[in-house]
Amino acid sequence: MDFAYTARMQELRQQVGGFMDAHIFPNEQRYHEQIAAAGNPFAHPAIVDELAAQARTLGLWNLFLPESPLGAGLSNLEYAPLAELMGRVVWASEVFNCNAPDTGNMEILAQFGTPEQQARWLQPLLAGEMRSAFCMTEPDVASSDATRIQLTIQREGDDYVLNGRKWWASGALRPRCAIFIVMGKTAPDSPDAHRQQSMVLVPRDTPGVTVVRNLTVMGYEDPESHCEVTFENVRVPISHLLGGEGDGFAIAQARLGPGRIHHCMRCTGAAQRCLELMCQRVTSRIAFGRPLAEQGVIREWIAESEIEIAQARLLTLQAAWTIDQQGKKAAQDMIAMIKVVAPNVLQRVADRAMQAFGGGGMSSDFPLAFLWTQGRTLRLADGPDEVHKRSIAKSALRRYAK
Ligand SMILES: Cc1cc2nc3c(=O)[nH]c(=O)nc-3n(C[C@H](O)[C@H](O)[C@H](O)COP(=O)(O)OP(=O)(O)OC[C@H]3O[C@@H](n4cnc5c(N)ncnc54)[C@H](O)[C@@H]3O)c2cc1C
Repeated sequence: MDFAYTARMQELRQQVGGFMDAHIFPNEQRYHEQIAAAGNPFAHPAIVDELAAQARTLGLWNLFLPESPLGAGLSNLEYAPLAELMGRVVWASEVFNCNAPDTGNMEILAQFGTPEQQARWLQPLLAGEMRSAFCMTEPDVASSDATRIQLTIQREGDDYVLNGRKWWASGALRPRCAIFIVMGKTAPDSPDAHRQQSMVLVPRDTPGVTVVRNLTVMGYEDPESHCEVTFENVRVPISHLLGGEGDGFAIAQARLGPGRIHHCMRCTGAAQRCLELMCQRVTSRIAFGRPLAEQGVIREWIAESEIEIAQARLLTLQAAWTIDQQGKKAAQDMIAMIKVVAPNVLQRVADRAMQAFGGGGMSSDFPLAFLWTQGRTLRLADGPDEVHKRSIAKSALRRYAK
């Protein structure tokens, strides 16, 4: 295994890091001010467009999409340190058109979309002009088991008719979100539980689609929006089917592989930022006659955080390397492992940093509390920890319990 940064990676790292220092960190406050001024928590702030135009000119655009002529042509391993840098600020990835859930949606459109579907939805997504949502989870069934989903997709002549209810569709209330990728059942009675599902492309403005509400995330109104959506006799032409009938489960697996490790890369970056903020704070703040940094307990938090971040980074790189060298299937266990590790590391490091910040750590004056919620929610989003551990254990038992 060789995770050494190539010359190209080092150059890109410098470029993305330089961009973060010059344009993202200095505008963190402005981003929130522009959203507040818009009077809509999901508004698209002008600063994102301004900076995206600059990033695109510099070629820092669509850096994900490994092995595709549509992206920057980076491998997963090459992309990892760049996504880590972007993860230091929650909205930065969008400036580089590398944000969830659009990246995962673009990947499956690139992999499974017809030329017509790609022209209509993938191209504007790649250009950053459109946003998308992925609708799989349902409030009425345990959706960590995708075979349980209930939304129906029935063929009627040249149309599919959709009926059902989804929630946690991230991005669905963003002003530019125009397309939903919806997973439902075309063959609920098929004896093969993994061939019952299909995916259909549904424009947000299709009659019968209702974005019912946004769900707060641990009390936060996340600018990304996470929505409950109902589908009542929603009719789309059969040409809106993504892949073939019965391919839905397999497409979901394809989507979640690299998407999961992108989250992990960003989590590592977010944890790194929390650690750096903690170090800066404890050296400048005096209590009981000396800087907080001189307290043994605080040094322990710093050391533990440093160790855990290094472990998460290495495991992420190993997962990325395995996908590149041996394919997604061979990397399945690695992806599951890092998907458990990285959000937990972020949660623990952010928690220590919040404690070191005192009351300030609980406020929105610093990014720590929101980053903590990112770690906490990512222990559920894209599959709960327990489900990943289940598959890791299954695989270990297969290997060792002979
Ligand atoms: C911020 C956020 C954004 C999200 N974005 C999206 C999105 O864009 N699109 C989308 O479709 N979904 C999205 N989700 C939903 C997310 O993927 C689901 O919440 C997750 O997959 C779990 O499904 P569920 O909520 O139905 O939990 P359930 O399936 O009801 O599971 C509940 C709990 O049961 C336990 N459990 C389940 N199975 C097992 C097992 N085999 N062994 C042991 N314990 C088990 C776990 O602890 C699990 O947390 C998002 C969620 C959040 C919080």
